[in-house]
Amino acid sequence: MTTTPSIDLTELVENAKNKTNVKCSHCESLMLKPACADYVESEFDLPEAHQKTRQQPTDGGAEQRTEFTCEKLKDFWVVGDMFTFENIGLSHTVNNVKYLICADCEIGPVGYHDLQTKQCFIALHRVKHVA
Ligand SMILES: [Zn+2]
Repeated sequence: MTTTPSIDLTELVENAKNKTNVKCSHCESLMLKPACADYVESEFDLPEAHQKTRQQPTDGGAEQRTEFTCEKLKDFWVVGDMFTFENIGLSHTVNNVKYLICADCEIGPVGYHDLQTKQCFIALHRVKHVA
């Protein structure tokens, strides 16, 4: 079961931009500085985030999950190009979309990069907002 935390947009959006720092919800790696991204409401099916591994070092070998359950998300930060990010990692490409992950702990996907428009979308529900 997925519990989607409720998001108070009035706390996060100011002048249609992100009011706070956007960080990895797991390791707090800084992804976006305040006012770097625009808020956009657009639905997208994003595979569910990997759950935190409990203290198990990922020393390879683990079976690869081939089955993804998707979560429909609609609140995103959008940036015009990758260089806007302070830190961001790239995962695999599916169709015309490359998934974005944390550059440090590789948790994700936290969003996606549209290869056609070059825009990057970060799901508000997958990141942490820190003033
Ligand atoms: Zn992280």
